[in-house]
Amino acid sequence: MNVYLDNNATTMTAPEVVAAMQSHWAELYGNPSSVHHFGGQIRKDVARAREQVARLLCASADEIVFTSGGSEANNQAIRGTLDAMAGRKRHIITTRVEHPAVRGVFHHLEKQGYRLSEVPVNRNGELDLAYLEQSITPDTAIVSVMWANNETGVIFPIEQIANMAKARGAVFHTDAVQAAGKLPIDMRKIPVDLLTISAHKLHGPKGIGALYIRKGTKLTPLIIGGHQEGGKRAGTENVTGIVGMGRAAELVIEHLGEETERVSKLRDKLEKGLLEKCKGVVVNGKHRLPNTLNISFEFIEGESILIMLDDLGISASSGSACTSGSLEPSHVLRAMGIPFTLAHGSIRFSLSRYNSDKEIDYVVENMPAIVDRLREISPFVGLNGSASSFGAPPACNT
Ligand SMILES: *Cc1c(COP(=O)(O)O)cnc(C)c1O
Repeated sequence: MNVYLDNNATTMTAPEVVAAMQSHWAELYGNPSSVHHFGGQIRKDVARAREQVARLLCASADEIVFTSGGSEANNQAIRGTLDAMAGRKRHIITTRVEHPAVRGVFHHLEKQGYRLSEVPVNRNGELDLAYLEQSITPDTAIVSVMWANNETGVIFPIEQIANMAKARGAVFHTDAVQAAGKLPIDMRKIPVDLLTISAHKLHGPKGIGALYIRKGTKLTPLIIGGHQEGGKRAGTENVTGIVGMGRAAELVIEHLGEETERVSKLRDKLEKGLLEKCKGVVVNGKHRLPNTLNISFEFIEGESILIMLDDLGISASSGSACTSGSLEPSHVLRAMGIPFTLAHGSIRFSLSRYNSDKEIDYVVENMPAIVDRLREISPFVGLNGSASSFGAPPACNT
């Protein structure tokens, strides 16, 4: 059985999306900037997709700029804002748990001389809002806080945070890549200036995303040298990707309510099943997206669990990056203060509308044996079967 539970990394392209893109690969190759009727036809398709994406955010079409994905949209939002301010403000704020496509940009800006504040989170993954509020000064150029975290699924109170930033005259950006498609987003109600989304996280194609830019927000383009996207992003449009993203957005609008309920029931069933069947298990993060379960298995290596799950056809991901021999737990779990022995054994299961009840049963049935086997050989559980300094090895109830 193949069970795909890594939807926060990427999602299956919906069959309806593939169908919508098909003719654009094949016959509809015109350039939307061309004056002839062929170009005009493509221009209409791009315009329709822009309407569909705008509708997903309750925004207007002229506030949507297509980009090559979430990473570019984040770069554009943050660097474009500072560029437009020409160094008048020198302070920038983000959180300790952002996606690398925001975190990396802020660290780069700090090296260039900007003063950086990074808002901490508590053990539940919740932001320190008092710290955030006190950090914003008249010198603060931009505040960037993700809507929902990709590793834990923790949702931040974006309306409250946006109001805080706006009240103090800062530009507010949110990386909503994980929120879009899972939570309702309404730009009429929340005073966000800039918002990032990515198609491949909501059953659209890869290599296409969008930045919402509220009317009146000053931004210098990242990619210069063409009139496309209202002069905000040069280069011939990724028409096929744009059409696919539009269709994906439309599907989200059609299904969001019922889907959220079904997916969250499946996620809860998985969570309950693992907590019941395995000992030494802790769930990371409170108040989460309906599809995400980040769960730690004490004393064992997340990477090893992943390999054994993979052997069974189950795709998930882990919270520790086993890169170049160093076993560094993720910056998100570290920021939450999750102890070493738990952070190392963390697994992220992320579901989608394509998962079934049977698939969840399959995971719950197979997990206890994996956990037992790995604890038997765990170096953290003490040598020669004796209890280690971490205490007695917890076992799984099968
Ligand atoms: C995946 C992701 C991104 C990056 O989007 P791409 O389209 O892959 O560049 C940014 N932020 C978050 C929270 C993500 O999950």
